[in-house]
Amino acid sequence: MRLLIVEDDASLASGLRRILEAEGHAVDVTSRGEDAVLAASQERFDLVILDIGLPRMDGFEVLRRLRAAEKPMPVLVLTARDAVEDRVRGLDLGADDYMVKPFAMPELTARVRALLRRSQAHGGPRIVHGPLMLDTIARRAFLRGEPLELAAREWAVLEVLLAKTEKIVSKESIIQAVAGWGEDLSPNAIEVYVSRLRSKLEPAGIKIRTVRGFGYMLEEFKAH
Ligand code: CA
Repeated sequence: MRLLIVEDDASLASGLRRILEAEGHAVDVTSRGEDAVLAASQERFDLVILDIGLPRMDGFEVLRRLRAAEKPMPVLVLTARDAVEDRVRGLDLGADDYMVKPFAMPELTARVRALLRRSQAHGGPRIVHGPLMLDTIARRAFLRGEPLELAAREWAVLEVLLAKTEKIVSKESIIQAVAGWGEDLSPNAIEVYVSRLRSKLEPAGIKIRTVRGFGYMLEEFKAH
């Protein structure tokens, strides 16, 4: 696997490099956020280890730019600041995991292995259905390469249908997947979300069939 380490503490960076190379990875190191953004735009990395406290462009900004550029690789954030807000902000910006310094190297390598395993197992964080692409990390949708606006509930319903393409999904199971704890969501509400999804997706040839009295089915996409 190809890893990028973005860390301005030179001794920590070289320690990380040595340990991850010993695990069999190809490792690139930079101490500058600007260089990390540039490197990721030119080459493919399987995982990024990203320090938050960097000179000039900080790790939050690097993360924001990676996700804005549709870079889907897992990002493990390193922070010296054990502040809840930092961790939440990192996760909100699309980080997959974080570690607070100082940390034990074996824990870091274990987290790296877990993140790589997860991203490989899912065939990456992207769901593609014909002209539709959902980037589940950045939580952005694209239709024919153009950004597609989806409300949170529409996204959730669509994800359920995409997970069972060509299979009938009951309204009840959609409600269970979409509704929050203790929240009442009626079958009528699901109908509304599905009808909004149809109006957005059908022009691109993506069809959600109604199975009367039961639920819905996302049809296999056929290009015409
Ligand atoms: Ca630092």
